[in-house]
Amino acid sequence: MPSSEPSPTFRILAIGECMAELAPAEAPGEYRLGFAGDTFNTAWYIARLWPETSVSYFTAIGTDAISQQMRDVFSASGIDHGHVRVVPDRTVGLYLISLANGERSFSYWRGQSAARQLAADPDALAKAIGDAELVYFSGITLAILDPASRKTLLTALGTARAMGKVIAFDPNLRPRLWSDQTEMTDAVMQGAAVSDIALPSFEDEASWFGDADPVATADRYRSAGVTTVVVKNGAEPVHYRQGAARGFVPVPALPSVVDTTAAGDSFNAAILAGIGGNTPLPESIARACRLAGQVVQGRGALVPVDPARIDP
Ligand code: AMP
Repeated sequence: MPSSEPSPTFRILAIGECMAELAPAEAPGEYRLGFAGDTFNTAWYIARLWPETSVSYFTAIGTDAISQQMRDVFSASGIDHGHVRVVPDRTVGLYLISLANGERSFSYWRGQSAARQLAADPDALAKAIGDAELVYFSGITLAILDPASRKTLLTALGTARAMGKVIAFDPNLRPRLWSDQTEMTDAVMQGAAVSDIALPSFEDEASWFGDADPVATADRYRSAGVTTVVVKNGAEPVHYRQGAARGFVPVPALPSVVDTTAAGDSFNAAILAGIGGNTPLPESIARACRLAGQVVQGRGALVPVDPARIDP
């Protein structure tokens, strides 16, 4: 178990969308049902690897059987779901993974998902945030909301930050969830403006913001008001800025990379848990790399990793 234990009272809230996942099973034409989604994946790794940290998930689900199954998965994973909103006439989003010649492709049914209503009740949102010390959300959380709901969420996060809560944000740029690139980049920088911590991935940032290198990415988020930036960059060193401190942390080389799904989500879990444990940032980043390094050597988003190899 990782050594820098967070205090027993450290409470993290992740806000976003968890979806039903249909992944190809062994027999052709058969699929296995699972549940995944960027912010949920991060909550799942925190609950699994840092059980002393309390992690809660805020989303909206329906009242049907699959919504109940999702809630059961939250429970079984050690993720609190006491604040989850219920929207009776909607259900959870779904995606299906197709495999062709070893390449995975994804089809989504999430346009009308209950999670798109997660910010429709500002009081429920404020209550969930009120119970946490650290609140985590992503660019995908922003993308699934209509402009009015997005504003509600950003306002609630800004208020929470002013009250001294730590707000952490992964821009997770997904252009196909947005109507155009400008809407995406504007919303992401608004997300950064209410955040203390940004956890971007350089490849996406370079594609959509035109950053020349990870230092430029860090500078841009710092200019938006973020105090700590950690720039992930695949197999390349991770760049960080924290107050006046800055540096690069090397990524351990791997014998193989099987599937990079949830690499960044698991990485973020180690960073967020490290904040609860007051772990020095470079140490948390090294741990995050060891965790993500295990995740990319397994298949799917939720990989049963070995805690002993995260904190050797
Ligand atoms: P990314 O969001 O793709 O930049 O990746 C997040 C983290 O996953 C990186 O900072 C690494 O720790 C890990 N990772 C991703 N791809 C690789 C790779 N090819 N080799 C080693 N680690 C990787």
